Amino acid sequence: FAALGAEDPVAVYDASTDPHRPERLTLMTELREALDRNQLRLHYQPKLRLADDRIDGAEALLRWQHPLRGAVPPDTFIPLAERTGNIRRVTRWVLASGIAQAHVWAARGHALRIAINLSARDLDDADLPTRVADLLSLHAVAPRNIVLELTESAVMGEPDTAVQVLKRLADLGIDLAIDDFGVGQSSLAYLRRLPVREIKIDRFFTQKLGEDVGDRTLVRSIVELGHRLGYRVTAEGIETRAAFEYLRDVGCDHVQGYYIAAALEPDALEAMLTRDGGATNRGVRA
Ligand code: C2E
Ligand code: MG
Ligand code: MG
Ligand code: MG
Repeated sequence: FAALGAEDPVAVYDASTDPHRPERLTLMTELREALDRNQLRLHYQPKLRLADDRIDGAEALLRWQHPLRGAVPPDTFIPLAERTGNIRRVTRWVLASGIAQAHVWAARGHALRIAINLSARDLDDADLPTRVADLLSLHAVAPRNIVLELTESAVMGEPDTAVQVLKRLADLGIDLAIDDFGVGQSSLAYLRRLPVREIKIDRFFTQKLGEDVGDRTLVRSIVELGHRLGYRVTAEGIETRAAFEYLRDVGCDHVQGYYIAAALEPDALEAMLTRDGGATNRGVRA
């Protein structure tokens, strides 16, 4: 997909210059069919709060099990949906499904904040805050139980419209998080003017925490600076005990990664929550 200009978040899909055009148009037709037939699913990756080793949140991640192609990864179909104008329908489905799930878990007594990924293109949609507010009241979900994740490029891309939409979402009482922090173009100076509450350190910086002194210094600095600026800090892509312990030592707030669990079907996540009366990470450090 490099030919599409994957680095450019505002690139417009130009079918006439796309050598893989037929296949991509087919994939997008199939994505619309999958939406119509309700064949997309959300899986949920637990977020562990290091202060008390509790799972207090989960990130919704899209899964598309294609009848012939098998699992199509979101890194493949989301960028394409963005460029072909299909992303808003995808986001609408994700918001409806994720907020409905938040209601189910709250009703069963699980204190979980559900994080939902938005795309850059969603912030061009001035109706988005109203749609989110309607879904919250439809499903009787408290705004504080929802976090919306945006990448740096999404909030840098179209400052005027995006800032308005972000402010209205934050005014609803929803927390906004900057996803994949550190790999994009944004400056903390700019982010500080946005109603952002959380930064998520990209796994690029956390993968080698066990051995790479430079990465350790960098991650510690991001955590400290983030805290000084009033952000909650989550580290993504935690795969090893060494990385987990390091993040605990430097006072990171939350960790997410295969070391705790991959994204799980809702039932599997709930089983993990109820096991050990919620002291779910006992196995993590065993
Ligand atoms: P992301 O939001 O940064 O999500 C984190 C990705 O890292 C997920 O990949 C997750 O499965 C993976 N991951 C989690 N822990 C680990 C780990 O320890 N090691 C490694 N190597 N990977 C880990 P996934 O589910 O394939 O999603 C990829 C990206 O697709 C997401 O990155 C997000 O940008 C996008 N995406 C997924 N679901 C949605 C959605 O509902 N809406 C939108 N707009 N984008 C989505
Ligand atoms: Mg995310
Ligand atoms: Mg991320
Ligand atoms: Mg990502």
